[in-house]
Amino acid sequence: VVTRTPEIQETRFRLPVVAEEQKIMEAIHDNDIVIICGATGSGKTTQVPQFLFESGYGVPDGPTPGMIGVTQPRRVAAVSMSKRVGEEMGDYSHVVSYQIRFEGTVDSKTAIKFMTDGVLLREAAIDIALRKYSAIIIDEAHERSVNTDILIAMLSRVVKLRRELAEEDPTIKPLKLVIMSATLRVEEFTQNSNLFHTTPRIIEVEGREHSVTMHFAKKTNHDYVDEAFRKICRGHRKLPPGGMLVFMTGQGEIAQLSKRLKARFGGGMNTASTTKVRISANEAPMEVEDIDFGEVDDDRNINDRDDDDISIASDEEEDKEFEIEDEESGTGPLKMHILPLFSLLPTKEQMKVFEPPPEGHRLVILATNVAETSLTIPGIKYVFDTGRSKERKYDPVSGVQSFEIGWISKASAKQRAGRAGRTGPGHCWRLYSSAVYERDFPEFSEPELLRMPIEGVVLQLKSMNLQHVVNFPFPTPPPRESLIKAEKLLTYLNAISQTGQVTPIGSTMSIFPLSPRFARILLIGHLHDCLPYTVALVAGLSAGEIYIPENQAIPAASVQESKKNDDGSDDDEDNRGAVTFRTTEDVLADDRRAKIRAAFNAAHKNFCYLDDKSDAIKLLQVVGEFAHDPTESWCDSHFVRFKVLKEIKQLQKQLTDLLRTNIPAFANLSVPDTLDPPSQKQVQALKQMVAAGFIDQVAIRADKAPTPPEMYRKPKRAIDVPYLPLIPLEGEDGHKLELEEKLVYIHPSSPLAHLSVDECPDYIVYAYLQKAGNTGADGQKRAKTRMHALTDLT
Ligand code: ADP
Ligand code: MG
Repeated sequence: VVTRTPEIQETRFRLPVVAEEQKIMEAIHDNDIVIICGATGSGKTTQVPQFLFESGYGVPDGPTPGMIGVTQPRRVAAVSMSKRVGEEMGDYSHVVSYQIRFEGTVDSKTAIKFMTDGVLLREAAIDIALRKYSAIIIDEAHERSVNTDILIAMLSRVVKLRRELAEEDPTIKPLKLVIMSATLRVEEFTQNSNLFHTTPRIIEVEGREHSVTMHFAKKTNHDYVDEAFRKICRGHRKLPPGGMLVFMTGQGEIAQLSKRLKARFGGGMNTASTTKVRISANEAPMEVEDIDFGEVDDDRNINDRDDDDISIASDEEEDKEFEIEDEESGTGPLKMHILPLFSLLPTKEQMKVFEPPPEGHRLVILATNVAETSLTIPGIKYVFDTGRSKERKYDPVSGVQSFEIGWISKASAKQRAGRAGRTGPGHCWRLYSSAVYERDFPEFSEPELLRMPIEGVVLQLKSMNLQHVVNFPFPTPPPRESLIKAEKLLTYLNAISQTGQVTPIGSTMSIFPLSPRFARILLIGHLHDCLPYTVALVAGLSAGEIYIPENQAIPAASVQESKKNDDGSDDDEDNRGAVTFRTTEDVLADDRRAKIRAAFNAAHKNFCYLDDKSDAIKLLQVVGEFAHDPTESWCDSHFVRFKVLKEIKQLQKQLTDLLRTNIPAFANLSVPDTLDPPSQKQVQALKQMVAAGFIDQVAIRADKAPTPPEMYRKPKRAIDVPYLPLIPLEGEDGHKLELEEKLVYIHPSSPLAHLSVDECPDYIVYAYLQKAGNTGADGQKRAKTRMHALTDLT
């Protein structure tokens, strides 16, 4: 029996899910597969695992001894939910653990294990019967992440298998599967007879949502960061007390908005903590919103704007928007307590959103999608929704993968707005017009599986003896083109044979926690004695964003200050006055910025000393240098992320171990901690190896193409030199593209951007494309398609 503190009891009591405990447990008892639908915040994630535990699941000497596994699509949620559930369970807090790649707290006492869906997938590859578990909860199924979809499909078979095993062997228990969704849209799971032969039991938890008043914008401003800033300023001045939650698309935007808001409402000139980048990237592959789009010259340029231009009270009409009827009148506190929330933020920083703001401050949370359903923040009354998110796009015909900022779905917009109605009636300001919402927002977002290349999935399934991937019971099967494309690439990488069977190379590739492209690079990586370099390179390429953008760099002077705060001393920054003066401090700040810029440029230039045309070789250099001085201060002074580099190091070690234990020729492989720089010959060989994994993603300089397109202007800068992918880009649904839409350009973050136009190489191998971030209200694309280059090719 779990004893909980009175506060926890009280909170639990109010959760709709708790009212349904008996119904839920009876359903689980009577059915192997149960689907629970309930609004975000109703208590699914925190309570259902506890129900299972309290009815004996996960109890070692009970009738159902296996662990209760709970999967999350996001690392943030896996870690923070395990902490929350641990807290709620009082004297049983030690039975709750989490496991994300390379990091976890699981031990022999663990009864409830929170993990990312990727972790469970890898476990299923080792033991398809998942004998360690008595129950699996697949959470956030509505998000339709690839891993979740595959897990659900796989578990539909595992549940059956465990039933059969249990009938033969009484020591083996059946497995219970609970699928949880924040929306009622579960027909892909229930109406799919290929997936579940009998319709699973569905329990709908009645929500206790308060009404949320919608405020659509009159017109849709394409510069939504600016628009968010203006709206938040107005709202803050006019609205009664209550927390604000702002949905942005990524960390960069959050940093910019935070800086502007802090300058106006937050306190002194110290922006160190808003731009402080203490990043933990615990698991590759990265989550989409972690991808740093960097600054592209022809994108919205929102960095050097002068906030003083914007007059706040000029537009009476807009002010009216914030004249809401509310039982509480008057305006809220004068100051803002601004907190960022995104998945790469360290858990400790993330947890701050759950604490009440300091006296006299309004809580303002600037969040990515993480706050849409995974985390529930108490006290939010006002939501500002930009209506956008970073998303993965994939063209199954050309196989081109890209990341874009696009409109969210109506379902997501509803979820976001709902975040304002948890504790009482709330308001949501949508920074887009109702016309745009009606016309451009899809009803639901597409499952991720339909938006990404699936060669990794296909190889994984095939190496688990599922030869006919078409027959796999995907909740939403991927388009045939994707499957064909994936098989073609795998054939090309020698991972499968012409007839679609896994080759010995393919099954070796599937052992590595890498995408098939990187696994292939690794397996040819021993040529020219390159193996230690290849290991470092693929580990680097498959990790999250390694570089800290200049505008997010920590000013050297404040590094110490933030360290001090980390040690637990008081952070008084937010208690300073709201008024800011232009002082000599500003001048000094400008001076400091200039110094940072110089240091930043020097660091990047140095990383390119082996080769000035290759992002891949530059990355290798970073990983190599880090090995010589694996410290946080080295990372800070070189504008790279410590946590990401540490993770790369762990991955290097893991890859080396896997090579040693799985490939006889490498049985005695030893990789020294530090490496000498590769020779020029090795550099050339490494570039060829990179190309071998991406040979279908090569672009040729347009003026060197067999039939060069007619160009009107001669480019003056490298980033304006047009390239043409050798496999031409195609429009969606086969519609014809204009010439400009077929062209791709060097991304400004690449070393290639520093070349002169004449030096730009004939061929570039790229990892993926980044399409113009913004589609304006008029539907016009505003920027060029950029290549995230890997290397030149000679
Ligand atoms: P669901 O999974 O249905 O979206 P959760 O179980 O995540 O709901 O959350 C239930 C409630 O628990 C939330 O409304 C929130 O108020 C509270 N809660 C969750 N995590 C925390 C936390 N770390 N600190 C304080 N309250 C929390
Ligand atoms: Mg939840």
